[in-house]
Amino acid sequence: MKFNPGRRKFITEGTAIGVGATALAGVTQEGDAAAQAPIRWDRTADVVIVGAGASGLPAAITARDGGATVIVLEANHDIGGHAMLSGGRVPLGGGTSMQKKYGIVDSADQVYLDHTNHKDSEFRYCDRDLVRMWADENVATFEFLIENGVKFNDEKPDFVNEGTVPRLCVAQVYSPDLKETINGSPGSGIVRPLEKSARAKGAEILLKHRMTRIIRENPTSGKVLGVTARFEDKDVNIRARKGVILATGGHTSNVAFRRMFDPRLTEEYQVAGEPWTKQNGWQSAPRSAVRPTRVTIAAAESLKHVISGPVMATRI
Ligand SMILES: Cc1cc2nc3c(=O)[nH]c(=O)nc-3n(C[C@H](O)[C@H](O)[C@H](O)COP(=O)(O)OP(=O)(O)OC[C@H]3O[C@@H](n4cnc5c(N)ncnc54)[C@H](O)[C@@H]3O)c2cc1C
Repeated sequence: MKFNPGRRKFITEGTAIGVGATALAGVTQEGDAAAQAPIRWDRTADVVIVGAGASGLPAAITARDGGATVIVLEANHDIGGHAMLSGGRVPLGGGTSMQKKYGIVDSADQVYLDHTNHKDSEFRYCDRDLVRMWADENVATFEFLIENGVKFNDEKPDFVNEGTVPRLCVAQVYSPDLKETINGSPGSGIVRPLEKSARAKGAEILLKHRMTRIIRENPTSGKVLGVTARFEDKDVNIRARKGVILATGGHTSNVAFRRMFDPRLTEEYQVAGEPWTKQNGWQSAPRSAVRPTRVTIAAAESLKHVISGPVMATRI
């Protein structure tokens, strides 16, 4: 089956989708005519995904399901990112199999209304287009998790986030083995099964590979051709025939970046998820691809609380 992401056409048109993951293909920037020095490529894949956490792993599975070859780069010595340490709380609704099992009636429209409720201090700022797309993907995303091995506690979903319908399900901790769960959190019950599914479907995950540069046709403009990753003090150049997906998490560990939004967030602040994973995020992305606005940040932050990892809400 030819890998064609349909209306999202994100590989061909390079449109950024969802909250957490940004797809880079045809991003262009004016005024940089100097051609890129010839690149010695060490590896090649159709889709290169940076980050093996809550966004990167589903992206890898979906790209494989679409027939693309996939390389996932992970800076850490293991997969999972923040999601590994997370509470594994997944409040997806719209009429999921778990809601139906407990006789709960829900719809994508009700999910949309609950997450754009102007009476709610967070949701009133949500980006309507993002929430609409997310609401429409709730059911498919929940079933996607089940299809790829995630097991939820078999109990009646609970109310959450002032929602009018019970939607909250919690993943089962993956195993009693701390080597697999890191800190015994239910989040392991989301990322370990997704890792196993991605590997079983043929996605290659390269650990301890930290992406340091996005390679484009010209030094700072033109189509994205691939990335450079640092591995054991050597640079590795990985070519992406179809696209690069940045799924590097948020910016909480990046003092300079977070102080852009709140100058009080200086270096002495503890960051949830550290030292297991450091989230510096977007540093290397082309400026034209990353223009966080206040609303997007508010939406991103609130949606993050709502959907446990961006791409779970936006299958490619
Ligand atoms: C303690 C805690 C509890 C939480 N509980 C919940 C919950 O119950 N429900 C919920 O919905 N959300 C919860 N969250 C939030 C949730 O974990 C995040 O929203 C989600 O993990 C974000 O997904 P992501 O893919 O964007 O980032 P992550 O899952 O963090 O994945 C990003 C990955 O990218 C890697 N990376 C970063 N930079 C690079 C680079 N340059 N090169 C290569 N790899 C790189 C990181 O090492 C990491 O593995 C919790 C978070 C924390 C910290």
